[in-house]
Amino acid sequence: MVLLALSLALALGLITILGSDYVRASRNLEALTLYRKVLTAANRLSAERGPMNSVLGEEPAADGPAARKLAKFRTVSDQALAEITPDDGNEITRRLVDRDKLDNVRTSLAAARRAADRLSARPLAERDTTEIRSVIAGMFGVVETMRPVVLAAMAELMEHDISLTGHALTGLMLGDLREYAGRLGSFLAPSIAARQPLSATAYDELILTHGRVLQIWQSLEHQLALHVDAPELVAAVGEARIRYFRDGLDLIARLSAEGKTGHYSVTTEQMTLQYVPTMAPLERLRDGFLDDMLAHARATRANSVHWLQFVVAFTVLIVLTNLLLLVLARRRIFRPLLQARNHIVALAEERNLDQPTRVSRHGGEIHELFAALESLRLKLRERLRLTERLKVQAETDALTGLLNRGTFDRLGQDDSGFADLPVETGLILMDIDRFKLINDTYGHIAGDQVLRATAGLVVEMVRKNDLVMRYGGEEFAIVLPSTSLRTLARIAETLRAAIAEQAIALDDGTEVLVTASFGVATGRRDGPGWKILIEAADQALYMAKAEGRNRVGVAGEHGLAGQVVADRVRAA
Ligand code: GH3
Ligand code: MG
Ligand code: MG
Repeated sequence: MVLLALSLALALGLITILGSDYVRASRNLEALTLYRKVLTAANRLSAERGPMNSVLGEEPAADGPAARKLAKFRTVSDQALAEITPDDGNEITRRLVDRDKLDNVRTSLAAARRAADRLSARPLAERDTTEIRSVIAGMFGVVETMRPVVLAAMAELMEHDISLTGHALTGLMLGDLREYAGRLGSFLAPSIAARQPLSATAYDELILTHGRVLQIWQSLEHQLALHVDAPELVAAVGEARIRYFRDGLDLIARLSAEGKTGHYSVTTEQMTLQYVPTMAPLERLRDGFLDDMLAHARATRANSVHWLQFVVAFTVLIVLTNLLLLVLARRRIFRPLLQARNHIVALAEERNLDQPTRVSRHGGEIHELFAALESLRLKLRERLRLTERLKVQAETDALTGLLNRGTFDRLGQDDSGFADLPVETGLILMDIDRFKLINDTYGHIAGDQVLRATAGLVVEMVRKNDLVMRYGGEEFAIVLPSTSLRTLARIAETLRAAIAEQAIALDDGTEVLVTASFGVATGRRDGPGWKILIEAADQALYMAKAEGRNRVGVAGEHGLAGQVVADRVRAA
């Protein structure tokens, strides 16, 4: 039980830790997913500039391919903004996205689009480079209003979990890289559209932004080396180096050189077609990196789920093993031990000594214990039999098989072992008449035979509960519980008559007739009663002898003064 409690406590601790890991990983995943959407929305706003440049470089055509493309891009960026709009039902958008800042973005976006639409509605010849620039600058402004939204979301993300900083920053920088790369094209577009030389401001902005792009890329290369391990991202890095940083920037350099004279080798449309594809690896890198970031977050969450499952499964296993051990211990150890204890108590109380101990069928120590108990039982049984034999030997007389004098004496003691015998009792003392003569005439062995035969006759004639004992050499005592003096006298008389009539056949065929004299008395076995009773019976016997033998002497009811009533009893 203690082991069970300890392992459950350990499991609970682990589950708590892993559970909070899981919750954190889930929240990180949610926050990163939203952060990615915020970056995407910012990218969409930048991307709107491409088709807008094309529309500004063409004659008004509401249904032209450029206008349709621009409409599609606007729908996409509107959707992207809608997805990150804080909503009462979604806690994470409320936390990461600042509603006021996002409203600013919407306002400036609407204004920039209106300005662009106004300008593109006019014929191409009537559009002024400065106006085109200001429309484009308006779109740059939209991106600038989006930047605080992105930064606030990033700050919130880092506050939530500082370990997300690296990914958040790299994602932001990849977005910036694409933004500034795009701007390089946008700076050139108005002058190319107007076939005019680049203004000094436009040239300065080009130089400045070019420097920024290179700076961002320099920092990014280190960051990417740390965070990127997916092969397709590594490939995108290599591709960006060649496609954008060689081909793309070469195109920009060529067009800025042509901007000094105003003789451009391409139209805006052609420039877009040549320049935009060189930025594709940058976009792939940005999107791939953000995908990879989310995949990592998902993997972290899945990992904590796996660990949770493992710990739960392991805990179940431990609990089951514990329960199994408990059941096995109960069945194979505690229960057998309890049985062994009961066996030992029974053996100590000498109960069930004849019933073999059931030896456990399982091996090991418990089996040994029961085997030892069985051998103890056999030893105890043997000893008990021996003790019983000795007791019988100690209590009986070897010649006649009757109870002996010792037992007779014990009848009067408190711990006699005859507790169930009534205290009120009758006593008959019997003495074979002139036995010495039989010994002298027929020999000692014949005398023994006579003793045995007479004892056998007496045992046959008394009741089952009466005790017949050999009191002395040829003297017998019969204890008859709860018997009246009258009945005693009658029984003694019956015995006397039977002995007198029964001829005893000796080994040599001689038949011997013996008689016996009797003394009967009643009294109690307890206290001094026994001694008094014996004396009374003895006195009665003495009187029977004195009266001439072969008769019954009866003790007076209240004392020692007995009288021989043999004749009277016989008459009755
Ligand atoms: P009474 O009628 O006065 O009783 O005469 P008795 O001869 O029977 O009396 P007494 O007590 O003098 O003699 C008893 C004899 O019994 C003495 C002894 O040799 C004999 N005797 C005692 N024990 C045994 C025994 O175990 N075997 C044999 N064969 N004789 C025994
Ligand atoms: Mg005698
Ligand atoms: Mg005698």
